Amino acid sequence: MKSITLTPEMAFRGNLILVNADHPLRETVSPDKLNYFKSSEVLLERKTSLVLDNLFKAISCGASIVPVSGYRTLEEQKEIYASSLEENGADFTQKYVALPNCSEHQTGLAIDLALNQESIDFIRPYFPREGICEAFRRKMAVYGFIERYQESKEGITGISAEPWHFRYVGFPHSSLIQAHNFALEEYLDYIGQFPYEGNHLKVQVENKNFEIFYQKAENCQVQVEFPGYLPFQVSGTNTGGFVFTLWR
Ligand SMILES: [Zn+2]
Repeated sequence: MKSITLTPEMAFRGNLILVNADHPLRETVSPDKLNYFKSSEVLLERKTSLVLDNLFKAISCGASIVPVSGYRTLEEQKEIYASSLEENGADFTQKYVALPNCSEHQTGLAIDLALNQESIDFIRPYFPREGICEAFRRKMAVYGFIERYQESKEGITGISAEPWHFRYVGFPHSSLIQAHNFALEEYLDYIGQFPYEGNHLKVQVENKNFEIFYQKAENCQVQVEFPGYLPFQVSGTNTGGFVFTLWR
C-alpha cells in the first residue's frame, strides 16, 4: 500500500479547486508555475497551457481562436472590476466579473477564448456555438476542460452564462462533469458522497477505469492509503477536502 500525507494547506491547491464568491482563493500562484500560452501575452498555469496547446492542435484551429484572458493577479482583477463598474455599471459587473480573490482567473486554470475577429470584447468575447468554437467544445472534455458558467447554473455559480470561459479541471473529471451536466460546485458535492472510508466512485470513462474518492481536510495532517501500483492524482478542492483519482 502507498501512504500519502496531506497537510491542511494542500487543500487549497490543485486542478479541482473551487473558486467562487463563497470560496475565495486562499493561495497566490507562484510565478514559476505559470507559462505564456504559445506566443501570446496570456499567462496560464503550466499544465493548463500545455494541454490547451494540445487541444488547439487536435482541432487544427490555427489562429481562428484567440486567447483573450488567462491568469490575472489580484491587482489586475481589482482593476478589471473597478473599470467595469465605471463603464458598465453594477448590474453588469456583478453578472460577468467575479470579485477580487473570487475569480478563477487568479488560479491560472481558466481561459477566456474568442473567435478571431476584428474587434474582440475583453469582458464578453464572442465564442459562438458553431464552427471551430463548437469543435473546441466537442473535444475539450477529453483534454480536461469544462465550460464553467452555463446558463442553467447561474443560481449555483453566481455568474451569468459565459460561453467563452473555460476551466481546466483535468480528465476524467471534465468528462464526468459534462456527462452529468454538473456545475463544478455540484460535482464537488457529488464526489463528497464517496468518502475515503466508504464506498468509492468506480467509473469507466473513455474506456479507462477510475476510482475516485473524497477525503476531508483536518486541522492537522491526514493520511490516505491505497494500492501503490496504481497511477494517481490528488487535488485540493478549496472547500475543505481532497479528491483522489486512481487509474485502475
Ligand atoms: Zn473568464
